[in-house]
Amino acid sequence: ISHPGVSTAALLLAAASGGGLVAYADSAAENASEQSQEAPKKKKVVVLGTGWAGTSFLKDLDCSKYEVKVISPRNYFAFTPLLPSVTCGTVEARSIVEPIRKMLEKKRKDVTFYEAECFKIDASKKAVHCRSAVGTNFDGNGDFMVDYDYLVVALGATVNTFGTPGVMEHCYFLKEVEDAQKIRRNVIDCFEKASLPNISEEEKRRILHFVIIGGGPTGVEFAAELHDFLVEDLVKIYPAIEDFVKITIIQSGEHILNMFDQRIATFAETKFQRDGIEVNTGYRVIKVSDDLITMKSKSLGEVSVPYGMAVWSAGIGTRPVVMDFMHQIGQTNRRVLATNEWLRVHECDGIYAIGDCASITQRKIMEDISTIFKMADKDNSGTLTLKEINDVLEDICIRYPQVELYMKSMHMLDTRDLIKDAIGDSHKEAMVVDIEEFKKALCKVDSQVKSVPATAQVAAQQGHYLAECFNKMDQCKEEPEGPLRMSGSGRHNFRPFRYKHLGQFVPLGGEQAAAELPGDWVSMGHSTQWLWYSVYASKQVSWRTRMLVVSDWTRRFIFGRDSSRI
Ligand code: FAD
Repeated sequence: ISHPGVSTAALLLAAASGGGLVAYADSAAENASEQSQEAPKKKKVVVLGTGWAGTSFLKDLDCSKYEVKVISPRNYFAFTPLLPSVTCGTVEARSIVEPIRKMLEKKRKDVTFYEAECFKIDASKKAVHCRSAVGTNFDGNGDFMVDYDYLVVALGATVNTFGTPGVMEHCYFLKEVEDAQKIRRNVIDCFEKASLPNISEEEKRRILHFVIIGGGPTGVEFAAELHDFLVEDLVKIYPAIEDFVKITIIQSGEHILNMFDQRIATFAETKFQRDGIEVNTGYRVIKVSDDLITMKSKSLGEVSVPYGMAVWSAGIGTRPVVMDFMHQIGQTNRRVLATNEWLRVHECDGIYAIGDCASITQRKIMEDISTIFKMADKDNSGTLTLKEINDVLEDICIRYPQVELYMKSMHMLDTRDLIKDAIGDSHKEAMVVDIEEFKKALCKVDSQVKSVPATAQVAAQQGHYLAECFNKMDQCKEEPEGPLRMSGSGRHNFRPFRYKHLGQFVPLGGEQAAAELPGDWVSMGHSTQWLWYSVYASKQVSWRTRMLVVSDWTRRFIFGRDSSRI
């Protein structure tokens, strides 16, 4: 009778009715144990983070196959590309976030969410240590441990100040929803402060000097939003101080938007010049105090400028928990976790990393390329025909998407161009190419290969890819579908991750935007802004946020932005 699995009710009934029900209880217990033998325990999957990578993985994962636990200090997903619009009230903060529990509503019975922060990953014990983000539990401290069979690290990145003195204390950042809300309040504060009596003109100029450090897409978008907010709304309600307002972008490189096509960078710079946004290129900020930004240029030395508000958007850094984990597993001197092309963290069993906190390492590219060549050179002649080289290149591009990206950006996807670029014109028409010479050419590519960028697009595609692998895990163990193994025989279980670049936008204010689309197609101007509106409306994660965003845009068109400081 004391068999595990027999319910209290059955025991009571058994006691009341004698032996008859004991038999029933025994058979129920047998059934239960038979069932537990039939259905093997589900593997535990723990997902850290509810950003682009984490939610994309969760949305596509067949959660009924696993016991899934999600841990994040934010119980919502934020549509980061619209964060710059939140800084000036073009779009409201609540319009770009979706509760994570709502997103996983249909998978509710298979997924558990904890609003907590992971502060340690213990790979040896296969567990993560977490701390509640909503106060303590009944023990008095909010710490707890969650064990896993598979861990998906999708922790994103944090801001990177490059150790510049004063940045943490005096600058605003634009990484989270709260950051955008803080910026919005402070912009209004600056206008109200400059409107107070007994403020000198010089002081007004300082208070209304908005400085953006970093000329990447985030800095540029924010500058454009701020400029629109000033000219379309604020100058109407603060006419007395209109002339004191100034926006400056400080960029260490030669151009802003230097990861975009040169035509886009030139278009943006010319537009900003027309709009009166000052762009200081070739300057590196070396210190920020409460009222001065000190920057340095090679030609002009150190310059200090007074400012009222500074926004730092000069780069992304590593979260402490990821840094600690990297030290544990010997991945020191890196900014992000190194994974293989199947997104598994090197030398870690069952740990995958996706999104901004990870990058596919190039460590083994040349070793692997040598093996691919050996396999292609079937007659051991030391030469390959162009057709064979094309096949080899295709194989390399499948394994290493960043090689393909680089070759595309250098217009080198044609093998002949690659050969010409690397070993000179004379081999251009060669039908047979010496393997060693061609390897040297690829070495050149390898040394310059850029890693896959840290964008929402990459994070979402990695999440989707990993979910597909998890969904096919059992099937692929029996019938591997991936490429041939480099060492040993047989195939990998899955095809390696391959990033597909779908293009990128940058809004430039005044209802104009620039876009770099697949096939090296560049588009700029008013029509691109309408394309931007339709793409970003369609990319919203739910109909609710889509409706909210579109209605915010409409509200702004009709009534302008709200300048209340709440
Ligand atoms: P994130 O989206 O940052 O998610 C990280 C998750 O981890 C969050 O849920 C966070 O709460 C959670 N987390 C953090 N610490 C812990 C912890 N200790 N324990 C548990 N969970 C934790 N990309 C584009 O492609 N196009 C754009 O137009 C674009 N615009 C952008 C504009 C701005 C202002 C910003 C900031 C970024 C923009 N990006 C854009 C980049 C894009 O947002 C990132 O590349 C993307 O968010 C990366 O996704 P992720 O899942 O790796 O990280």
